[in-house]
Order: sequence, then C-alpha cells, then structure tokens
Amino acid sequence: MTDTSTDPIAQYRDLLATVPTGLWINGDSVAASTKETFSVDDPATGTSLLQIADATPDDAATALDSAVAVSEEWADTAPRARSEILRSTFELIREHADDMAMIMTLEMGKALPDSVAEINYGGEFLRWFAEEAVRVAGRFTKSPGGTGRIMVTHAPVGVAFAITPWNFPLAMGTRKIGPALAAGCTMIVKPAHETPLTMLYLAKLFGEAGLPAGVLSVLPTSKSAEVSTPLIADPRVRKISFTGSTPVGRTLIGQAAENVQRTSMELGGNAPFLVFDDADVDKAVEGAFAAKTRNGGEACTAANRFLVQEGVAEEFTAALTTKMKAMVLGRGYDSDTTLGPMVSVKQQSSIAESVSKAVADGARVRLGADPAEDAGCFYPATVLDQVPADAEIVCNEIFGPVAVISTFTSEDEAIAAANATEYGLAAYLYTQDLDRALRVADKIESGMVGVNRGVISDVAAPFGGVKQSGIGREGGSEGIYEYLTTKYIALT
Ligand code: NAD
Repeated sequence: MTDTSTDPIAQYRDLLATVPTGLWINGDSVAASTKETFSVDDPATGTSLLQIADATPDDAATALDSAVAVSEEWADTAPRARSEILRSTFELIREHADDMAMIMTLEMGKALPDSVAEINYGGEFLRWFAEEAVRVAGRFTKSPGGTGRIMVTHAPVGVAFAITPWNFPLAMGTRKIGPALAAGCTMIVKPAHETPLTMLYLAKLFGEAGLPAGVLSVLPTSKSAEVSTPLIADPRVRKISFTGSTPVGRTLIGQAAENVQRTSMELGGNAPFLVFDDADVDKAVEGAFAAKTRNGGEACTAANRFLVQEGVAEEFTAALTTKMKAMVLGRGYDSDTTLGPMVSVKQQSSIAESVSKAVADGARVRLGADPAEDAGCFYPATVLDQVPADAEIVCNEIFGPVAVISTFTSEDEAIAAANATEYGLAAYLYTQDLDRALRVADKIESGMVGVNRGVISDVAAPFGGVKQSGIGREGGSEGIYEYLTTKYIALT
C-alpha cells in the first residue's frame, strides 16, 4: 500500500496520467517543437505533478495556421451543430466532474469543495452558450427616410486568442471558449503556467465530443509574453480575450492596438462590501464569509474591503471572526480542509507583506496574520479591523483569506469610500431598506452589485467591470456578442 504520509500525491498518479501532457494542436496532444517541458507543481507540497510540453512561438504559429485553416468551415457550420458539440462537452464535464475537480485542486491548491463548485460553474458556461448559439438574432427595418431597407446581421469575428489566469482554471476558459465556439470563431487558449492541467483535460473532452481539429488549441507555456506577443502581432488573429491582472491587461490592449483587434478584458478588482446599520447582520456575515473565503479568497470578485456602519461594526466583526476561525487550513485534497494553500509562494508572500504593512499602519489583528516560518504557500484565515482608509491593503487586491474591516457613519461616506479606487468590478451591499439598496447600487461605480448576496457569479448574467477592471462582458446574453461583428446590409 502507498504511504501517503511521505508522498501524498502517490495516490493521485493514476488520475494524473489521464491528463494529456502535450500541447493541444489540430485535435491532438503533441510535443513542443523544442521537446522542452515544464513542471506543474502541487502548491501544498511543492511536489511535481506532471511535466507539460512548453509551447514556443513556433508552436503558436502552428496552432494559428490550424485555426485559420478551419475558420471558414467552422463559421459556416450550422449553429445547431456547434451547439450540440458544446452541449456534449458539458455532459462530458459532468461525467468526469470528480476527476476534474481533483486535478484542479492538485494543480491550484484550493480546497476540493471549491474545485467541485468551479467544475459545476465552469461546465455551465458550455451549456449556456450551447443554448445561445442558436439564438443570435439580427434585425430588419425600413429606413426612416423611405430610401431603402436596413438588414443587420452578425458574423463571427474570426480567430480568437484567449489568455486565462490560474485562479479559476476551468471557468475563466469556458467563459471564453463557450461564446467563441457558439459564435463560430476558432480559438487558441493560453492557460496560466501554474494551472494548465484542467484546460488540457477539457481539450481532450472537446475532442471526444467531436469538435473538429483546429477549432480549439491549447498552448501551455512557461514563456507567456514570448508566445503571446507574436500571436497578437499576427493580423489573422481578430480578437484578444484576457482575464488577469490590470497591468498585463494594459500591455495587451497596447499590443492589440497595432492591428486594431477587438479586446475583452476581465481585469483586477477591489470589491467593497457595505453593511448598513439596518442590515440583517446574520445574513451579512454569511454573505461576507462567502464573498471573502470562496476560492480561498483568490477571486477577482472577492470582497476586498468591508465597510461597516458604526452601529453594527463590532457585532459583524466578532461574528465574521468566529466563522473564519473555524476554517481548516490544510492540503486542498484532504477531506476536512476548507482553506487550501495559495497558488504559489509568491502569492503567499505578497499577502503576508500586505498584512504586515497594514498592521504597521495601525490595523488591529482580530484573527490570524501569523503564518508559520516555513509556511510555503499556506496563509491562515485573517481578520483585521480599525484599518486606516489609506492603508495599502485597502487600495490593492489582496487575493487571499484576509478580511479587512473599516467603519463609516453616513451613506454618502460609504459610497465615497466604495468608489475611492481605480477598480470597478464587483461590489456588495447589505441593507433591508429597498430604497437605499437601489440608491446605493446606482451610485456605486462597478460592473456588478450584489444586494444582500455574497456570491453573484451566474452564467446567465453579464460579468465584467468598469474603470480599470476591464472592457466587455462575459456570460449572459451579452457574452456571445464579444465574438460577433455587426454587419449592415443596405437593401432597396
Ligand atoms: P496575470 O495577469 O499575472 O496572469 C494572467 C495570465 O496572463 C496568465 O496566463 C499569464 O501567464 C499571462 N501573462 C502574464 N504576463 C503576460 C504577458 N506579458 N503577455 C501575455 N500573457 C501574459 O494574473 P494572475 O496573477 O494569473 O491572476 C490574478 C489576476 O487576475 C487578479 O488581478 C484578478 O483580479 C484577475 N482576475 C480577473 C477576473 C475577472 O473576471 N475580472 C477573473 C479572475 C482573475
């Protein structure tokens, strides 16, 4: 029998052997042109999980040639046929959900229940866009001046290039692949080098579902910029869809300007979570816990700043601290774990540094803030209150299980504090006063507002930000239009 105490990964080796380790090009798993590979590691132990083919610019060119070769045929494929392939892949994800969730936890670290939730959420994008594929409408009208008729149609934008982050290894991909394929675009995906396994597994499922070779390519690489830059510089690529940090997003928008490519940018967030005196505090704490700790806090929609009205601040803080204290920090694949490791030592150190600075700036530690010296990627659930409004931790995305709490006195003060950021992705507010809820939701500068809800992501809703949180929307009935161009045909 395997001794899992010395090698906890040993029991998962058979499962890992089901992941294709090559680049996914032309419907097949192939070695990199240089034959080079890179290691994908378990954040909990640092153990290498698999060696994965390391794509080069030459491999990217091969993937692009294959995407271009089938582009017209895929655009001309009946929407119903495209829809059925997306639907079949959704069914395959459901069939393999347990395996995919474990693979995700192994490469990304998060607690298994978080991966199970993501497999469900990520798969749903394929079901949703299978349904949207056959619902793209145009319009037809008479010109007001009586000079003719106006016909408006939508056409696939062309070859799309997607770059995805490590925090949601499936959903950030399917949120792009689903609408692109539904619209009739071919797509090349470059997953984050920390978490390519889930995406490679998905590519294999697309193959089993009958997706024609060349329509979808997956290019894992340790050299993101080197591989991406020539692809974006190639005018045959007509669309760039990126999810990741705002600084990288800015760079990509600059690169896309050269060929005037369409872009969708899902960038960083700094979500405020407002709790008013008239809120149901128990529900606010439930919502706060979900908004803070889902995905180990490594979510762009994570509540980054709790702004609590003075009358309920202590009650809220004490109750949230109790809930966060009950979290079990451990390896994501162990059955009692509710908080896994962060994705990397770099990520863990950046959280530790932000917390230390906040404490030095005057924040009070209510829980945690005490990682072990040899913590590796692990960071404990932490609650800070009395955090000064100008502390760095309030201004930057934390991306970890750290709740940062400040107080306010008036509604105007709360709105001003919520909007005092360059970001505008998600925001949350808790109040039992409907007028206030709508008034505040209107005034908050963000693409999404949760009212008395701590989790807002929904495949049927448009996801995206304003200000420096991005451009464009994913999901909902809006999402497919990111991959369609509008064409006007003038008739007599
Ligand atoms: P990141 O920007 O460092 O990396 C994201 C992706 O871009 C990765 O695949 C990476 O390899 C690639 N990349 C990095 N530099 C590149 C370059 N110069 N050229 C081409 N590709 C490059 O972000 P991250 O640390 O992986 O992810 C965390 C960030 O993503 C956070 O800021 C988070 O808010 C954001 N995010 C946003 C959303 C959203 O929908 N708005 C969702 C999830 C994550």
